[in-house]
Amino acid sequence: ARQFTRPLNDLANQWNMMLSAVAGAERVFQVLDEPVEEADEEQAITLAQVQGCVQFKDVSFSYKANDNTIQGVNFTAQPGETVAFIGPTGAGKTTLIQLLCRFYDPSAGKILLDGTNITSVKRESLRQHTAFVLQDPFLFAGTIRENIRYGRLEATDQEVEEAAKQANAHSFIIRMKQGYETELILDGGGISQGQKQLIAIARAILANPSLLVLDEATSSIDTVTEIKIQEALHRLMQGRTSFVIAHRLNTIQQADQIVVLQQGKVTEKGSHEQLVENNGFYTQLVNGQFELE
Ligand code: ADP
Repeated sequence: ARQFTRPLNDLANQWNMMLSAVAGAERVFQVLDEPVEEADEEQAITLAQVQGCVQFKDVSFSYKANDNTIQGVNFTAQPGETVAFIGPTGAGKTTLIQLLCRFYDPSAGKILLDGTNITSVKRESLRQHTAFVLQDPFLFAGTIRENIRYGRLEATDQEVEEAAKQANAHSFIIRMKQGYETELILDGGGISQGQKQLIAIARAILANPSLLVLDEATSSIDTVTEIKIQEALHRLMQGRTSFVIAHRLNTIQQADQIVVLQQGKVTEKGSHEQLVENNGFYTQLVNGQFELE
């Protein structure tokens, strides 16, 4: 089944494993063929607090020699801003996220977090300041309560439920016969895709990170749940620097900054209004989406 998982999910799974390793959690899921990461630099630091200013400076990266996956990418996200990455499949959106989370390091250029090059920050520290909400959220075999608490293992029951309320998940959870003690099977079997997302949002709210990575769902979710998800995401994103691999026009339009990637290069960046003025790829894309709707 491994080859069918998506790269960002692999990434989040690794992050989750880091988290569980850090916290010494017993309940760890199957570890398959995850790539082995290089050790942190000896002098690597732990960031106690993160404001969330993220700068990519002339970042280049290749998975294999000379494949130029990412070429000279520049952008700055101010604390609390939302940056939407858009572009065709294979353009490098996922790779940018992987670089940000240090699953890989740039071959040239640098990524700064609050002015510190992230290559001198411990991966564990970086990931403790980052939460993921992905299309196909990672849920493990355990209760709903445990799945939410995974965001912050020392959280009290009350904090778990408060996060669930913020995430619009509480009401569906308490309608289930066993409520928060409902056992989920691996990957959340038994609940809907939308409900999984709400649990993932609750987990992220509980984690209270400065950085967020969101991969917007492309699969259809019923309208009522979709509205709940949007509302919960909006709450989650308040005050956090968010990177969204965006598919919805609405999300893209509301982003503080849109970064258009094509074949590993940033071809346009700016707000929706600015990009519409460019009359470039973005405009074509928006026109295409308008026609669809
Ligand atoms: P996007 O998220 O925009 O669809 P990706 O960042 O996933 O794009 O991929 C960018 C390019 O890098 C693609 O050509 C893809 O085939 C390649 N790529 C992605 N992951 C790997 C990998 N682990 N090894 C080699 N090439 C990869």
